[in-house]
Amino acid sequence: MQTIVFEGQDRIALQEKPQPVLNDGDVLIEVDLCGICASDIAAINGEVTDYSPPVVLGHEIAGIIVESRHPEVQVGQKVTVNPMISCGTCDYCRVDLDKYCSQIEGIGHDIDGGYAEFLKFPKHGIDTGKLITVPDSVLPENLMFLEPLGCCINAMRETILSESVAILGAGQIGLMFAQLATLQGLEVFLLEPFAHRRDFASFLGVGRTFDITDDQIKELIGVTNGGVDTVISATTNNQKAIDLAFQIIRRGGCINFFGLSAHDQNLTVNLEKLHFSGHKLMASWAFSRWSLGQAQQMITNHEIQLEPMLTTRFPITSGIEAVAYVRQGRGLKTALIGG
Ligand SMILES: [Zn+2]
Ligand SMILES: [Zn+2]
Repeated sequence: MQTIVFEGQDRIALQEKPQPVLNDGDVLIEVDLCGICASDIAAINGEVTDYSPPVVLGHEIAGIIVESRHPEVQVGQKVTVNPMISCGTCDYCRVDLDKYCSQIEGIGHDIDGGYAEFLKFPKHGIDTGKLITVPDSVLPENLMFLEPLGCCINAMRETILSESVAILGAGQIGLMFAQLATLQGLEVFLLEPFAHRRDFASFLGVGRTFDITDDQIKELIGVTNGGVDTVISATTNNQKAIDLAFQIIRRGGCINFFGLSAHDQNLTVNLEKLHFSGHKLMASWAFSRWSLGQAQQMITNHEIQLEPMLTTRFPITSGIEAVAYVRQGRGLKTALIGG
């Protein structure tokens, strides 16, 4: 089968590999679609370090079971995965904080993932509830968004929300936040420098969009009487994004630095200023089993628009071109077509 292997910084390769061999209790998933995630790009760029190359990338998987050696999993079942395989018994795993488990193994991070025609999902993952099934009626074009949606739902639960929220960035993550916030009845503002992304947000009918020019920022601060209650940064948290967040937050408001940051990016705050501004600064990362369950329900019940965000697809054999395309910031969401 064809796979895209991450070999180290700036090194990815199209590799032909034998189809995975199952042990007792494992299942084989044929990949329909696998989303290319910003974190995969960050790993290739050498900006994040939570990957163990060489590994087949891909954790945003929509697929189907084609072989099962597990008594509870049927061939033909439509599935996606909770890509964090953890011990299942430690203090973190017991309270749905699997992401902090010391024995974490990530699909598409440490074990081979979905930039492939097939992937093996291990017995231990199934026994700890990490194989997520959906009805046949769910399209792969929606299913592949389940993991990123779960990350957004987790962050929404952690963030201090009041009446208004500004989302930095109208990429696929920003647009999911905007939709979730709209569903919660919040007043939503999207800040996005690219016109085609602002237009797409308007097309989805979520929130009011602003450019990040001085005039537009002034206008946003004006219409919100001094700033928004909450900022969720759904973009790379470089200095520009950090400064923008502090510019548009009201006194006492909450900023969630959700987006990825390069490993050498620091947040410098004057503690006296922070004290008197009363700003609540936080970060949210990844998903929980609970938030993936919520995402599973929302997708099954068509409560959120996901498929329109999938703008581009490449076959696995063009995986290197696909990664280059995403690296250039083109399209909104790009996926590889699996088997
Ligand atoms: Zn992802
Ligand atoms: Zn654990």
